[in-house]
Amino acid sequence: MALARRGGGTGRRAGLRIQWGIQPPCGFKSHPRHHALRDLLHCRDGLSRGELTLAHVLEELYANIEKREPTIHAFLSLAEKEELLQGAEGKEATFLLGLPVAIKDNICTLEFPTTCGSRFLQNYRSPFEATAVARLKAAGAQIQGKTNLDEFAMGSSTEYSAFGPTRNPWDPERVPGGSSGGSAAAVAAGEALAALGSDTGGSVRQPAALCGVVGLRPTYGLVSRYGLVAFASSLDTIGPITRSVRDAALLLSLIAGHDPRDSTSLPLPPQDYLADLRPNLAGLRIGLPKEYVPKELGAKALALVERWCMVVEELGGAVLEASLPLTEYALPAYYLVASAEASANLARYDGVRYTLRVPANLLAEMIAQSRTLGFGPEVKRRIALGIFALSAGYYDQYYGKAQRVRTLIAQEFQKAFEKVDLIMGPTAPTPAFRLGEKADPLSMYLSDLFTIPSALAGLPAISIPGGTIEGLPFGLQLIGPRLSERTLLAAAWALEEALR
Ligand code: GLN
Repeated sequence: MALARRGGGTGRRAGLRIQWGIQPPCGFKSHPRHHALRDLLHCRDGLSRGELTLAHVLEELYANIEKREPTIHAFLSLAEKEELLQGAEGKEATFLLGLPVAIKDNICTLEFPTTCGSRFLQNYRSPFEATAVARLKAAGAQIQGKTNLDEFAMGSSTEYSAFGPTRNPWDPERVPGGSSGGSAAAVAAGEALAALGSDTGGSVRQPAALCGVVGLRPTYGLVSRYGLVAFASSLDTIGPITRSVRDAALLLSLIAGHDPRDSTSLPLPPQDYLADLRPNLAGLRIGLPKEYVPKELGAKALALVERWCMVVEELGGAVLEASLPLTEYALPAYYLVASAEASANLARYDGVRYTLRVPANLLAEMIAQSRTLGFGPEVKRRIALGIFALSAGYYDQYYGKAQRVRTLIAQEFQKAFEKVDLIMGPTAPTPAFRLGEKADPLSMYLSDLFTIPSALAGLPAISIPGGTIEGLPFGLQLIGPRLSERTLLAAAWALEEALR
């Protein structure tokens, strides 16, 4: 592709509107994105102006749930419509006025069990709730239910849930992505207005991309991890999955800010990311790393990327060639670091604490049998890999080396951001794949190729709908420097409007 410095410049903000020819899939009357309710902010404004009632909003959502949920299976637990109606009483003075938000089931809630999609925690009820959840509730949100995920958030398709897979609302033969597949599918299917997911190596952005919605991974440390069940603590983040960039900014405003209960929480006050947010790309330098547009993406995906570049320039930005040569080492480094941390974090599931226990005569036997029964194959694979990477004699060769690669990747991004403001590329290499299609672990891991490097570097990144390939959504990812959420959201909003 001809990606040498293009014209760019400012002030060429044409009223560009590209028709992507989005067709409603799987027999839905209207495409999820064209749903009458639009987004959370739209509903909030409608409620506060008296143009909409909560009963009306809930009726729409629950009509969709009744129709689609038996196929989609986005929720592991779900509030009744009537409960939410009653629960809204007394919330008249709050910002969200009792509107419901869905929560990924590895984020602790008091109202519902927190299963992490694992047999181990099938009936587990957390005695406390996550800070992000408490903050949403304080802002007047109600917890609509808990959404399906790959067991302990390890996976990219939601097929590894112990409670059955979630299906993609665009095509139920296909996966919604993962691990926050339930959250993304619920939002895309019109079953939820907005949701929280978790992103360790891409689990908010990749399912958002595959379901045609918006997913934001915040800067590591910006949103408290307190109450997020630990997978890989140095990578785990909580992020919003929404129908619009503005909703992502809204939810981020509500959940971000310092929390003394998370030692890695950044000492920053909460911010209003919506205040003075304008769709804006003027004057921005957008880097397109050649490693993010390999020819293996195929002609259709490359054509979409080419159009994104045109749109950036139409909106007054400049597309610059960039290079992140260490990209190919990110995947192996991630799977060593994340698995090493997972093996330590998941040691707590021993049959003594939490819910599942296989009785046996000897303690060691009880622990072994509980873990054998409680964990699924992917979780076992990660634990085995992690323990190996951390074992004496191999520690430096694997874990130590992966950590050094991680540092180099972070430095490489830092250097790239001396020349560009944001980095753009596809969120995932392909649109949604079929259930069962990626049976070997490596081909599954490869779907996180473009989300993992920024996760290793702790950077914020957002996925927005970037068009469709053969009727399936294809996500556009923007990555920014640490704490660049304002720039990221403004640019994402501008692109969202132009690409809609
Ligand atoms: N799919 C990646 C993995 O399996 C990322 C998961 C995540 O971000 N939680 O590890």
